[in-house]
Amino acid sequence: MIEDYASHKNLSKIRIVLIETSHPGNIGSVARAMKNMGLTRLVLVSPKEFPSQIASVRASSAADVLNSAKVVETLDEAVHGAKLVVGASARLRKVAWPQLDVRQTAELAITTSDEGDVALVFGREDSGLSNSELDKCHYLAHIPTNPEYSSLNLGAAVQVFAYECLMATDIERLHSKGYRHKLASTEQLEGFYDHLYQALQDIEFLDPAKNARFMRRMRRLFNRTQLDVKEIDILRGILTAAQRQAYANQREE
Ligand code: SAH
Repeated sequence: MIEDYASHKNLSKIRIVLIETSHPGNIGSVARAMKNMGLTRLVLVSPKEFPSQIASVRASSAADVLNSAKVVETLDEAVHGAKLVVGASARLRKVAWPQLDVRQTAELAITTSDEGDVALVFGREDSGLSNSELDKCHYLAHIPTNPEYSSLNLGAAVQVFAYECLMATDIERLHSKGYRHKLASTEQLEGFYDHLYQALQDIEFLDPAKNARFMRRMRRLFNRTQLDVKEIDILRGILTAAQRQAYANQREE
């Protein structure tokens, strides 16, 4: 259920860090964007104006996130104890920092949050993050944009990251204990593909001479779905039943 995502335990490990935000309205928008997506931990590094009535109005019903924001003086304090620190940047830099897009960042954040805290760091409205701040980040993360105008409003940028984190909780769930059956091994998959190939000939669907590319298509289809062992069992059961029917028909002819 999509509504369950927002209460996912890993979201509580992700902090949003804002550096020297000038406009209190942006702090309010960030609090709202976070709460909408189930994030709760906001850290403000030397904000120009906070607390602020303007921020509270903009936060709307996210007053709890705003009021529990932690105000600190340095980035070091803000990222203290985090296992992963990612700096969000509107500009792609040519060198030095390994880069991820926002979706990859969210997946990494959610998987890392099994082990500990994650900090997503956002820069100033006018000048973004400095190089020395980026030095403290393990990765630099970018929201793909129109290259002619890549700088999002701070609240909008946090919104996209928060949304992707929320969606990534589902990936984490699939890989976790909640997933009832083990994913099929490559051997099990190969066994299934061999069986499919044989069964499709037995039921006279596939003429191997004319369908060289067909099985590659089928592999692509099934590989995309990450079949589990139970699903392989079911599919092979269907193939066996179809083969049995085909043999019976042949005997009658
Ligand atoms: N003018 C600044 C951008 C400021 S926008 C600059 O050129 O760096 C404020 C912050 O929002 C940025 O520091 C960054 O953390 C985030 N942000 C804005 N657009 C983004 C994008 N396309 N990808 C990732 N983060 C972005």
